[in-house]
Formats: sequence, structure tokens, C-alpha cells
Amino acid sequence: MAPRIGPEPRDPGLSFGQKFLHALPFGIGIRNKPRYYLDYLKSMWENIKNPMYARAILRRGVCDGCSLGPAGLVDDATEGKHLCNLRLQQLKTHAMDAVGDEVLGDVRELADAHVNYLRKLGRIPKPLVRYRDENGLTAISWEEALDTIGERIKKADPRQTGWYVGAQSVSNEGAFAVKQVSRGLGCPNLDSSARFGYIHGVAGLGELFGVPAPTSSLKDLLGSDLIVLWGTDPSETHPLILKYLHIAKDQGSRIAVIDPRKEERLVKYWVPSILESSVFGTRLMDDYYPVRRGGDIAFIQGVLKTLAERNGFDHEFINAHATGVDDLTRPLRQLAWGDLAKGSGVSQAEMEKFAGIYSAAKSAMFLYGTGITRQRHSLSAVRSIATLAAVRGMVGKKRCGLLPLGQSNDQGAVDLGVVPGEGGFTVTQMIKAAAEGKLQVFCTMSGNLFEAPIDRNVVIRALERIDLRVHIGTVFDPSMFHPPGDVVIILPSMTRYEIPGGCTTTSVERRVRFSPEIPGSSVREAKPDWQIPALIAAQVDLANQERFPWKDAAQVRADLEKSVPRYRGVAGLREEGKFIQWGGERLYEKSVFDSIPGGKCRLRLEDLPPVTE
Ligand code: SF4
Repeated sequence: MAPRIGPEPRDPGLSFGQKFLHALPFGIGIRNKPRYYLDYLKSMWENIKNPMYARAILRRGVCDGCSLGPAGLVDDATEGKHLCNLRLQQLKTHAMDAVGDEVLGDVRELADAHVNYLRKLGRIPKPLVRYRDENGLTAISWEEALDTIGERIKKADPRQTGWYVGAQSVSNEGAFAVKQVSRGLGCPNLDSSARFGYIHGVAGLGELFGVPAPTSSLKDLLGSDLIVLWGTDPSETHPLILKYLHIAKDQGSRIAVIDPRKEERLVKYWVPSILESSVFGTRLMDDYYPVRRGGDIAFIQGVLKTLAERNGFDHEFINAHATGVDDLTRPLRQLAWGDLAKGSGVSQAEMEKFAGIYSAAKSAMFLYGTGITRQRHSLSAVRSIATLAAVRGMVGKKRCGLLPLGQSNDQGAVDLGVVPGEGGFTVTQMIKAAAEGKLQVFCTMSGNLFEAPIDRNVVIRALERIDLRVHIGTVFDPSMFHPPGDVVIILPSMTRYEIPGGCTTTSVERRVRFSPEIPGSSVREAKPDWQIPALIAAQVDLANQERFPWKDAAQVRADLEKSVPRYRGVAGLREEGKFIQWGGERLYEKSVFDSIPGGKCRLRLEDLPPVTE
């Protein structure tokens, strides 16, 4: 084990009661700690009707629980199996039967039901329709459903139509089809759930380094001198990261957590796949910096100021590969420590301490999540973290870089450009327009607008004013059950595991991975996600069959490869678990930022947000 950098970590400051609970084996007393063994038994029980199919999904499918996206149970970064409680909890929604008709007769109360309850009701069985003043959903044929949708889209102003993709459940092929079709129908209003955080998480990296994508691979975490968890609790959202942190600690990494909330599970965690850790736990967090909400930019500027004053920048890297250093350092000198401490909520001494530890690190990884990407000044915060990494040359090298943590296939939605066209609306703007009665048609694929950080009442008003809503999905969500402006049509799509010819998704490591068709589903009327937009387009105008001529998933991938040069090789993916990793294991190796004119990354100092927020 390499010696850990920096001073001896302080006591994590747990109360007497917490210390007692942390001393118990298996972490049995810890609040919200995942109960893996219980979850495993629960999952077996939940899938008792279809155990072989559930098992095949686990063993052969690409996980859609979060953005790590391994194939089957194989871990990409290290030895051992890759499986967590999130995946087990999700399994039922892929392996269950369709919902019975008795549930659909009166759906008014389901509009207020919890999304998890609805997800477990059963799969969407067939096309369903609900007209204004009706209380329930009625089954119709695909022909009738497409006919109604086609007629309404034909009559609507394309600028008053909108499409939305819930990236987590949609394949790259499905997201690509939505983009092509919506653009083809002249609709500029298109967006995905990556809008609610992740897109800022990578856009900031794109502005500094040239490419809107995570810079590194998961294995870069192993043995990095310093790992910074910034505004994220991966134990909740990306559980397998905790296994990597355990291994990293074993190899001498120091782990810093920067977050307004000190999460107990990051102080110590019981990694189920590592025997010693599963019994006694692993002390993870070495340093904790309790920034105030939105105080991250001020904190970073305090650290940058210290580094600048103590010759802590990597000038060799900066001179050769970066611009903007003078514009960064000059104003830093003028910043008053009192303002930075007030802005960050952290003392000068703490910022200096972080700078000291960071200066000692020869490698550093920055992981950040919604605590950064959903804050008001998210883009500035991401650019600030990227600048902090760049001033010490922590990009493009082994065990260095930045990994924004998002949902499954968020990166795919970004890569494929599932964003508004020229003059088009983001999803937030679509909701606002709909609430004002200015959106006639809204088609959403696996996108639950209630998961958006938008006032619930505004979303309800929007949903109930749209003339035609089309909800494409595998399972129900509450947005489907709100009364229509005129008509709601729900179309059943296949899960990622059912699609004939397989499908691909893109992970946080930029791996575009093939997931095969796994036979065994019982929902006969569901169609592949990529096929449904094409069927709608053909209904609007038969000539669209020529424009979207996909006969199978392989043809969609071939078209996708032509449209997205980074995805070169995706058309050739046919075997279980095979992948392309665009950009290689890490971007900017040899410190070449060739997407930026001049080939140098751009250091930036952001405006400090007002403290009152
Ligand atoms: S950590 Fe994420 S990708 Fe890995 S098994 Fe869990 S949910 Fe799936």
C-alpha cells in the first residue's frame, strides 16, 4: 500500500451513539444502509414467477440501474462480481407480467400514487386511450392509436409539439429514433432527462476541455492519491463506487467529501462483496468539508487562491497546455478571505488544508453528482471543479480526471444530441409553454415529468392542458394518469432486454455497450423503443417510411453510426457485452485538447454567487 498523502485524518466526529452503531458487525444499526442480503431474498421472491428470465437479465443484460452500466455481472474496473441492491430492486419491472384490466377502469386515484407503487403494478399491456371527461383507460389497437396520433400531429403546428426522452430507460437506438423523427417532423422542441443535472455536469467539462463527457474510466479511481466526492452520495445512487473506494483506500487513496450534508454511509461502509468489509466495514471518508448549499464555487476559489499563493499550480502543464492563467490568478489575489469563508461556509484554514492535501497529490479524481449539477449555478460550479483539476494537470493521465455521476444512459442522450433544435424549447420551457396552453402535442418516451425539479402544480397544469399526450413506456408513471386536455394515448414499449436484435447504451466511461435480446417476456404487444417514433412518423406521412427506413435494430445502429462520428463501430456491435469506448480509456491523453482551437484547455475564474441564495 502506498502511503496516504496529507496529515493523519481527523476523527470523523461521530456521536457516542453513532460510534456504537458503527462498531456493530454488518452495519446493522446504520440508518438507510442497504440490506443487500435481504434485498437479494426480496428480489428472489418478487421474481418467483419468472426466475429464469430474471436470472438471464442479471447475467446477460447491461445494467440500467445507474450510469456505470456493466454487462451482466462482470465488473469492468476490478475483479469480482458487479451487482447491487438498486439493480435487484429494478429487476421486477423487467420481468413482471402486464397489469390486469381491473386496474385501468378508473385511474383517477393513480395520478397521486407513488412512482414506485405504479412501477410494480405490472407492465403496460397494450395501447391505451383516455379522452377528456373519462375516468379510465381503454384498450385500443396499435392501428387505432397510431391513426389518432398521426391525424392530430398532422393538424398541429410543429412548433407547438414537443418530444421528451427519459434517458434512463431508453436505448441509444430509441433516443436516436426520437431525435430523427422529431426533427423530421419539423419539431424543434426536444429534450431528455439529462437536462435535470447531468447535461450541465458535462457541458462545463466541454467548455474547459473541449468534449462534453467524463474524462476518465472507473479504474482510474483505484490507487488515485486523492478522490474527491463532491455533492454526491454514491452509496445511494451508484453503490458499486463504494467497492472501488474500498479498494482505493486499500491502495492508499485519501478520500475527501465536500457536501453540505455529512452522509454517515460515507464515513464508513460495509461493502457486501468484500468479506472483511461486509463484516467490519471500511472507513472511507478521511476529510469532510461542510460547504454551505451553493458554496462550492467560493470554496474552490479559496483553494485556488491558496494554490496560487503557495506555488501549487502545475506550471509546466499550464504553460504548455492551458490558456487563461493570468486572468485566473490576478483576481484571485484580490479576493478577501472573509468573503470566501462567508461564501463557502468553510473557514480559511479548511480551504488551505484542502489545498495542502491536493498539492501533495500526484493524482486526483473528482466525482460529482446532483449536489453540483442541480444547483442554481451548476455550470459555473462544474467549470470551477474542472479548473481546479486543470491547474494541477489532473486530466488525461492515469488515475486522474473528472467523473460526473448521472443516470443510466444520460451520456448517450448527450452524445446523440437529444436537445432542442434551433429556436426549440428545453423540457422546462415545454412545461411552461404547456401550462400556458401553448403546446398542442407532447410525446414522451419513458419520461416522468414529476421527477423533474419543477413545481408539481405547474407540471400538473401543463399535463392537463396539452391536447394530445402520447406516453411511450414499459411501466406506468403518475404523469400518465393525469386527465388529458383532449386525449391521452399510452403505448407499450419493450424493455432494453426485449428488443429483437439487441440495443446499446452509453456508460459514464463513454462505453457504448451492446445488450442482447433476452427471450422470455410475456408482454406481447410491446414494440421496440426505436420502432414507435418511426411508426408515428409514417402515420403522419407515408413518405416518412423512406426517411426512417429502419427494418431492425441493426439498421438503426448503422444510421446512428453515420450521424454520430464518435460512435464509430457501434454498427458492428452484435455480441453480448461488447462495447466501443469512444475517446479511449481517458480523454486528453498527452494533454491534447484538440476540440478547442489552439489545442489548449481554458482556465476560468467564475463570478462568486451571492451569499443570500
Ligand atoms: S452500481 Fe449501478 S450499474 Fe452497478 S449494479 Fe448497481 S445500479 Fe447497476
